[in-house]
Amino acid sequence: MDWNDSRNRFALEAVHLAASLVAEIQEEMVSETITKDDRSPVTVADFAAQAVIGYLLEQSFAGEVLVGEEQSDVLRLSAGQDTLERVAGFVSRVVPEVTPERVCDWIDRGGDEPGRKYWALDPIDGTKGFLRRAQYATALAYVEDGEVQLGVLGCPNINPDLQETSPGAGSLLVARRGGGSWIARLSDFDKPDRFSRLSVSKRKDPKDARLLRSFESSHTNTDQIDAFQRELGGEADPVRMDSQVKYALLASGEGEIYLRLLSPQRMDYKEKIWDQAAGSIIVAEAGGRVTDLEGASLDFSQGRTLKGNRGICASNGFLHERALEAIRVVGA
Ligand code: AMP
Ligand code: MG
Repeated sequence: MDWNDSRNRFALEAVHLAASLVAEIQEEMVSETITKDDRSPVTVADFAAQAVIGYLLEQSFAGEVLVGEEQSDVLRLSAGQDTLERVAGFVSRVVPEVTPERVCDWIDRGGDEPGRKYWALDPIDGTKGFLRRAQYATALAYVEDGEVQLGVLGCPNINPDLQETSPGAGSLLVARRGGGSWIARLSDFDKPDRFSRLSVSKRKDPKDARLLRSFESSHTNTDQIDAFQRELGGEADPVRMDSQVKYALLASGEGEIYLRLLSPQRMDYKEKIWDQAAGSIIVAEAGGRVTDLEGASLDFSQGRTLKGNRGICASNGFLHERALEAIRVVGA
């Protein structure tokens, strides 16, 4: 891993700053008293994180393409003024010279269409997890010719030992094509010697496979996951977790198979590039394999979605062919 490479350094710092700000917003806005339908904390945090990264990209790589999940339209309406003020207030903790107008411009840095080279950003992946105070991640990746070259995940609610419960400062994962996958505490973004190398689990027996799946049942097909599990003869209950933190677990050897099966309500669903880019290179560089449900490589050259792929199957590699076979058997 070339820790002095300017893209690596930029991505680590940007994700560290954005994810730490998101964690502060969660701390301050997602209280016990928040009502179940109030999505304002995630709205504010999503915009603030994308604004910070849009700003930083402008400083370091002006003119490069950024494909982000958010756009500022609603903030520019008069009904959005209160939210915009709150977003600008949080952004000013990282970028003191902020104005509401500039916040909108930095957010809209992410409105580019993916070209031959681009950055893909999900300011908060796992918004439901964020609102439940469970798992979520800030995800940034750099893609060239349809192939992810660099991926960084900031995971404020999980520690480098991948234990959810132990309180700590969160973790930061990075992978570079050919350079391996690495993890450190979120605050150690600028200390290469604090990063440790990740590798996937060596379990080869399908019976021992630990499955990772979405927490939200509407993002997957739970009947087929159960059937898949029976087909493998797997004994452990699937781990339900939000966001690309599942890729972090797989890369760290804390699970063997991660499936994104198509929900029966959304059989036409196409994965968004920012939901898979960073996590997939982190698993691949840790020795795992990531394909779609047919075994084809993910193609990040098709626009804002993985139009040419259907679902996702990620694994430690050893169990990949067996997993694809079980997917065929259960008709997923
Ligand atoms: P996860 O927490 O793994 O379910 O992933 C969260 C991501 O799932 C969100 O960022 C959404 O972009 C994406 N998502 C939303 N609806 C669906 C769906 N019907 N099927 C699969 N993924 C979805
Ligand atoms: Mg997402």
